[in-house]
Amino acid sequence: MQIFNTIKGISGFLENYRCVNPDKKVAFVPTMGFLHEGHLSLFRKAKETGDLVVVSIFVNPIQFNNKEDYEKYPVNTEKDISLAEHEGVDVCFLPGVQEIYGDQTSDLIQLRYPDLMNRLCGKTRPGHFEGVLLIVHNLFTWIKPHYAVFGCKDYQQLILIQRMTRDLHLDVEIIAMPIIREKDGLAMSSRNARLSPENRKDATVLSQSLLAIRDAWKKNPDIRVKDLKGIYEKYLGSLRVDYAGIYHPHTLDDLPEDAIVTQGLAAVAAYCGEVRLIDNMFMGGNCGG
Ligand code: AMP
Repeated sequence: MQIFNTIKGISGFLENYRCVNPDKKVAFVPTMGFLHEGHLSLFRKAKETGDLVVVSIFVNPIQFNNKEDYEKYPVNTEKDISLAEHEGVDVCFLPGVQEIYGDQTSDLIQLRYPDLMNRLCGKTRPGHFEGVLLIVHNLFTWIKPHYAVFGCKDYQQLILIQRMTRDLHLDVEIIAMPIIREKDGLAMSSRNARLSPENRKDATVLSQSLLAIRDAWKKNPDIRVKDLKGIYEKYLGSLRVDYAGIYHPHTLDDLPEDAIVTQGLAAVAAYCGEVRLIDNMFMGGNCGG
């Protein structure tokens, strides 16, 4: 596996690759590292889809609205490199903050979708999605992938990236992959490493609440949104909940309380101790389509 720390290094290498191999496809997976099976599933999809797999590992400071969350974000670069290598990743982009932003991590150009960004995670994480879109846009510009693979775990992020790609006519096909979970249902996340044993036990209620909602809807597709939302309370009572709702999967609007669900996204964000976790599940349709 080739490792590059500079934009010039990786973009030069890939320019040459595309020139020498005009028919080959580059598949890209952006990550913030501390890799787990969720990330590895994206690497495998990239390997299946493209000829050259490029992975980036960069903890992007401008997408953290909370300084402590950034400072405590888990890092294990050596292990990440060995996991990526083991999955057959061809190229790893591992830049430092200085390389990406120089001395400027504020007052940056912003890509915004006010409606989509002001919902769910955007409500309590000001600037988060602007930071995500800027780094993903820039990575696409430097790497020029044919395909980019993202997880449905960060569903709001995924649909924002799909919109940006479409609106800016970026020549990248976005591939969405399902959420990989621990045996007890907890969605895998790098942040899970920060959970105390007690908080780790409590964290299973996120996926349990979503499963219970989906089961209730499967059993009775005429059930009203308000009754589905009532199920959250049974599970999330002990946690500090950021949001827990049933949303339209494209607009992320709250579905009306009296509606029945033909297509809906049950999504939740809650704190287990000081760690904020997110999860989601589809009713009707799926994350990719
Ligand atoms: P992150 O390193 O958290 O920024 O995530 C990098 C990519 O991995 C994003 O596209 C995430 O949606 C995806 N991802 C994170 N956790 C999971 C998971 N449990 N299952 C599938 N994809 C995931």
